[in-house]
Amino acid sequence: MKIGIIGAGFTGLSAGYYLTKLGHDVTIFEKDPQPGGLAIGYREKGWQSPLEEHYHHWFINDNSAIELAKEIEHEVIIKTPKSSFYVNGKSYQFDSPFSMLTFPKLPLIDKIRMAAIFAILFRFNPFWKILEGFKIATTIPILIGEKAYKLLWEPQLINKMGEYAKNISLVWFWARIKKRTKSLAYPRDGFLSFAKHIAKHIAINKGEMIYKTEVYKLLENNNKSLSIFTKDRHGREKKFLFDKVIVTLPTHLFLNIAPQLSQAYKNLFEPLDGLAATNMVLRLRKPFFKDKTYWLSICEANSPILVVIEHTNFIDKKHYNDEHIVYLGNYLKSTDKNFIKNKEDLLQIYDSLLIKINPEYKKNIIDYRVFRAYFAQPIIPLNYSKIIPPNTTPLQNVFLANMQQVYPWDRGTNYAIEAGKNIARSILR
Ligand SMILES: Cc1cc2nc3c(=O)[nH]c(=O)nc-3n(C[C@H](O)[C@H](O)[C@H](O)COP(=O)(O)OP(=O)(O)OC[C@H]3O[C@@H](n4cnc5c(N)ncnc54)[C@H](O)[C@@H]3O)c2cc1C
Repeated sequence: MKIGIIGAGFTGLSAGYYLTKLGHDVTIFEKDPQPGGLAIGYREKGWQSPLEEHYHHWFINDNSAIELAKEIEHEVIIKTPKSSFYVNGKSYQFDSPFSMLTFPKLPLIDKIRMAAIFAILFRFNPFWKILEGFKIATTIPILIGEKAYKLLWEPQLINKMGEYAKNISLVWFWARIKKRTKSLAYPRDGFLSFAKHIAKHIAINKGEMIYKTEVYKLLENNNKSLSIFTKDRHGREKKFLFDKVIVTLPTHLFLNIAPQLSQAYKNLFEPLDGLAATNMVLRLRKPFFKDKTYWLSICEANSPILVVIEHTNFIDKKHYNDEHIVYLGNYLKSTDKNFIKNKEDLLQIYDSLLIKINPEYKKNIIDYRVFRAYFAQPIIPLNYSKIIPPNTTPLQNVFLANMQQVYPWDRGTNYAIEAGKNIARSILR
């Protein structure tokens, strides 16, 4: 069977890998020059390994990703880096029940209540469906108390979700607490190397990867075969014929390239929404954090930065020419003025927080860059299960497998790999 796959992020790569393994004739189209999608990496001069444009790690229970890595013999590094919360101008380790119970900024009774609720309702509760009709913003303060909510969770929720914060479903929070593991995993030499390794196996299995080529139209022909129309970076156009096509793009991009889809079908996905993301990567001569924190969640209202991640407190700096790598991460709407700000203006905005954490950091900057992703995080409102786009589409042999179908878990490369494997199975049925 001739199968076309649009997108060489981890969903497309995984679908391509499992289909070519079964001997199908697969072609993957990718607009970027390399595979990896949102987890793509880049390499500065002198670095031994590429680095993700946007911070990435796995939890050690991200089984689909870890199993695929094992299958293609890609080494996975497992470590237990430190995660902390920044509260009232100070960092506190916050990555275990013990660190939660010893956190000094809340009365013991509030901490016991929070730990008990998190354990019963999130960590050990498999019944996420009963949480679908509840909002984080109204339920968590009742469950754990106003004080703990306002101090720790409300600032993070608002800083991440912006205008959507009030309406995010409790299932999203459940997934984040349930899935978290103290130890984290990372593919050897990063996610780009892992993506390339999967692409290599696709090629060994006689699949074709076509990079720097954007699909701009997908048509169903009278005999139910499919035509994919592409444009390369020089504007050269080409047409390809397939028996089946898997689209891994966000839903709104799928709707844009398939003109035969009816308005009624398009209207079904009106409620879907998402956030963009920016990540500034600082290359420093010296460590940023004094206490070896890897992940620092900022619990401050109106913080200019959501999260500060010192990647080299997780992955050895020897991979990056002994530089210390720090991500400054934010989610925002792609129409937000900060989404397109240049790196100098952004650093000026971030500086007010950064100097509080490390007054010396500026002296140690080697260089810095900003990366942007237009569709980075689906918004999960109440009863999301009712608005998830299905895999099948009105075009008989066209299938959709994308981030907006990942639920109840929060999207991630592990679920992209799982989605790719599942869609490969289901199109063969
Ligand atoms: C800031 C940030 C942090 C994250 N942190 C983590 C983390 O720690 N761990 C984790 O596992 N996941 C993390 N994720 C999520 C993870 O990156 C995604 O869930 C996953 O990569 C999605 O894969 P995908 O293949 O479904 O989609 P994508 O990666 O979006 O792939 C879609 C592909 O389609 C291509 N494309 C788009 N339009 C066209 C077209 N018309 N023609 C051809 N190609 C096209 C794109 O270039 C892209 O390569 C993070 C994401 C972000 C943004």
